[in-house]
Amino acid sequence: MSQKNSTTLTPLAEAFDKMLHSLPRVVDQEPVALLNSVGRVLAADLVSGVNVPPLDNSAMDGYAVRTADLVGEPIVLRVTQRIVAGQVGTLVSAGEAARIFTGAPIPDGADAVVMQEKCKLDGDQVEILQVAVPGQNRREAGEDIREGEILLHSGRRLRPQDIGLAASVGLTELPVRRNLKVAVMTTGDELVLPGTPLQGSQIYNSNFFTLSALLQSLGAEVIEMDVVQDDLSSTKLALEEAASQADCIISTGGVSVGEEDHVKAAVEAVGCLELWKLAIKPGKPFASGKVGDTQFFGLPGNPVSAFVTFVMAVRPCLLTMLGCDKTFATTSLVQSGFEKGETGQRQEYIRAHLKKNASGTTQLVPFDNQSSGVAASLSRADGLAIIPPYSSVARGDYLEFISFSELLV
Ligand code: AMP
Ligand code: MG
Repeated sequence: MSQKNSTTLTPLAEAFDKMLHSLPRVVDQEPVALLNSVGRVLAADLVSGVNVPPLDNSAMDGYAVRTADLVGEPIVLRVTQRIVAGQVGTLVSAGEAARIFTGAPIPDGADAVVMQEKCKLDGDQVEILQVAVPGQNRREAGEDIREGEILLHSGRRLRPQDIGLAASVGLTELPVRRNLKVAVMTTGDELVLPGTPLQGSQIYNSNFFTLSALLQSLGAEVIEMDVVQDDLSSTKLALEEAASQADCIISTGGVSVGEEDHVKAAVEAVGCLELWKLAIKPGKPFASGKVGDTQFFGLPGNPVSAFVTFVMAVRPCLLTMLGCDKTFATTSLVQSGFEKGETGQRQEYIRAHLKKNASGTTQLVPFDNQSSGVAASLSRADGLAIIPPYSSVARGDYLEFISFSELLV
């Protein structure tokens, strides 16, 4: 790569243009029991074979009546039957009413339900205290879902309420994309796993855990690679080993320009590098490419940079590989409770929490230390406030904000 390219930073939107079209897609699908399908990506449209509800039914506990009978003063009807949910009643004739409960089918002849609070029962006679209009308190057959309707479209990442919707039409399992296999490859001579006492300048390998947990929340199968030592041949070998097992490799560390950084050169040697360096802060040293057919993402080693690049750049790509119809986290506009001088060419992601000010307005308050090495800033914050390139922030300005809770869906 030329000197010019090595200093060129790619804005995130441009990086997606480059990455998204060449991402390998998961095409295999598998049937999965309803309760195991939360978070999975639907692989086909779901069509309802039934109406929900199956019959017109009562929205209230009360009396099913013929509205044509509701004239004069007082209105008194004879209660001839009692219909509970799950039963089917008989014809309601002129001058009659049926005691009815929520969810019970409206009997033939009746065209409305008067709620019990508007009725006075005396023996088998009920006085109707409110004139009803046809259709009142009646839920129509198919008003929730019509037979033949597409319930959920292919590409939907299934949420708990979607599982309930599928159950409401009687489905027991759903066709979903198979999960991604992702090899997590951490690099660095200094890294040891928790459980081992630290020696010298060793540090714990926290990125492996952060990334694995983020991947688990996407349903991915995580392949844990041994920590890769900082030399070119170990890095090349590890990449090839990972590529033989995984749909995607995610590495952390060693992707910058130091003498101990070998990831970029190793990818160029055993695969191809498609992108290097993003115009974001934190997270500049980011690489993507291919090793064989396997997608590769190289994340920086600093824990905050690794997290931000995963969330902002890798996660949308993984969801795209799964055919998901919503790949970008939803942002909202939140008022800034801080000020900041003009940013440079990189879009900045500020770890911030949400706090109500004295007048009750929710504002963004940044974590004190925004260093990319301070992982505590991620745990203490509620999300990332986005400051575009070449812009400054005044108190009260509205900033785009990505809540961390978005990342668990
Ligand atoms: P590097 O990108 O390899 O230069 O690493 C940048 C910084 O992140 C260094 O201080 C590393 O020690 C640290 N670091 C790299 N990998 C990890 C990891 N897996 N867990 C925690 N810190 C890391
Ligand atoms: Mg390193």
